Amino acid sequence: MCGIVGFVGRMEAAPILLEGLKRLEYRGYDSAGIAIEQDGKIEIVKTKGRICCLDDMTDGGKKTPGTLGVGHTRWATHGEPSDVNSHPHRSMSGKIAVVHNGIIENYMELREYLRKKGFVFVSDTDTEVVAHLVDYYYKGDLLEAMVKAVNRLEGSYALGVVCADYPDRFAAVRKASPLIVGLSEEGNFIASDVTALISYTKRVVYLEDDEIVLVGREGIQAFNMNKEEIDKPVSEVTWNIDAAEKGGYEHFMLKEIMEQPAAIRETIRPRLKEGQVVLDDIQLTAADLQNFNRIVITACGSAYHAGVVGKYVLEELTRIPVEVDLASEFRYRQPIIDEHTLVVIISQSGETADTLAALKEAKRLGARTLSIVNVVGSAIAKESDDVLYTWAGPEIAVATTKAYSTQLTVLYLFALYAAGLLGTRPAAEISRLVQALEALPDQIEALLPACKPEMQRLAAIFYGCENLFFIGRNLDYAAALEGSLKLKEISYIHSEAYAAGELKHGTISLIDEGRLVIALCCQDRLFDKMRSNIREVKARGAVVMALATAQNKAIAESADQAVLVPETDPLFMASLEVVPLQLFAYYVASANGCDIDKPRNLAKSVTVE
Ligand code: GLU
Repeated sequence: MCGIVGFVGRMEAAPILLEGLKRLEYRGYDSAGIAIEQDGKIEIVKTKGRICCLDDMTDGGKKTPGTLGVGHTRWATHGEPSDVNSHPHRSMSGKIAVVHNGIIENYMELREYLRKKGFVFVSDTDTEVVAHLVDYYYKGDLLEAMVKAVNRLEGSYALGVVCADYPDRFAAVRKASPLIVGLSEEGNFIASDVTALISYTKRVVYLEDDEIVLVGREGIQAFNMNKEEIDKPVSEVTWNIDAAEKGGYEHFMLKEIMEQPAAIRETIRPRLKEGQVVLDDIQLTAADLQNFNRIVITACGSAYHAGVVGKYVLEELTRIPVEVDLASEFRYRQPIIDEHTLVVIISQSGETADTLAALKEAKRLGARTLSIVNVVGSAIAKESDDVLYTWAGPEIAVATTKAYSTQLTVLYLFALYAAGLLGTRPAAEISRLVQALEALPDQIEALLPACKPEMQRLAAIFYGCENLFFIGRNLDYAAALEGSLKLKEISYIHSEAYAAGELKHGTISLIDEGRLVIALCCQDRLFDKMRSNIREVKARGAVVMALATAQNKAIAESADQAVLVPETDPLFMASLEVVPLQLFAYYVASANGCDIDKPRNLAKSVTVE
């Protein structure tokens, strides 16, 4: 998920790799390493920590001479950040070294297969199987070995593969993970994005999934999986470094909004086997689940809002009562918790001080703990009994988007898994929901292109408002909480999320002429109720922007502005409706000239109480 650089040419490779990796630092990482080929041997230097450590260890690359090599920054997904888990990974014979970004979904099965063939594993990573697998198939022809190995891989990968027998070429391939090839007079490159290359070349080749390239000193050759050579057009990069870092988007937040389909896919795919949710990353058994008479979800900020969605979904599917608590409140109110409580802790960074303290309190009281975090090896991941990682990749914008969306995804997966083990839902319904879950990334992908200009248009109308309401019922209310927070965080406009039925118990007095109300009407069974709530606020002068599912086009008659959202099972609607809300917040903040990626007074990971 982080960074890869590779080079072969007329210059020393290590300094180029170190510089390229520094350029990729913005992507976030926890460890770094390089592999350099010289005289038929591969030298590897790698370490947990920063690239400057690697710089020191190699004396700026001087201690690792050679003109062919690959470098890597790791964002751990399998195995905590450590020296041995850092990349490159070497095969047992020492012939093959591999750098990898992404997730090999079938690594357990491949690991078993290779173990039986006598391969010994030294790291906890999914990546190490690739090194051994290429070696296993290597009989003197690297391309052949690559084809055979890639044929066995499931998941997402950008791979750089060095072979000790190949002094002039290395191999690369990608699938659902970024990797480009760069061409220059001095030599040729691979990199995760053009920022790593831009000071050397602007001539690049974009790879398609499962095209294998042999990157040579004098040129490159690309092949399909039948080993037939294919022609690849060369493009000229026009982006500057700033634009390249953001994938051509103006802000990391927008880039991360657009990355949500891929992030959700990455979080779901390894956990579905033959239409079933398989959470082999946790130890909770059916007996454990039966033992719980309550689930308590505790978190802060957007993670708390993900928890509110989780409450609805978990209660509906498992019939276990669920309570959601702000982590900063939880620890100071002597929570009633014991060994029959499952405490679910949610945090992007896994370092949130309030949430960590809540986790410790839960453990002290004897609860079983399950955390949902994005950073492998983080404090919360280490402290909790079980961890389900959201494989969103590093999130750079302070306001979360893809981490929140993958938190929802993990909660759905867990709810379906628990319902399956407890038998609280018929198998047919669970498989229907699994299918709906699997379709979510494609639905978001299809929704984004039209939704972007649409929300930009609406933001241009409403960016000047000073105070607004988000209203919704049930899961729409949960989504409203997040939509409202997103807008507040980055645009500094005050807004409030309200359960739509609650307005008349007080807050409706704040509705006056021209007040913007964003009405979320995506729970079809509550659509008529929401229509009544829209009528109530409109009667008091409000201007209403409403979101509804495509089957409720009639919303256009009730609201001043209507946004249609594709349909999924009502339990998963928050995942779809939050996307226009994120985009609305983004464009409103942009129209107001706010510092979108770094909103004032906020920090990405809140490690103080
Ligand atoms: N899944 C691999 C690991 O955990 C690669 C992670 C990355 O993309 O950096 O080592």
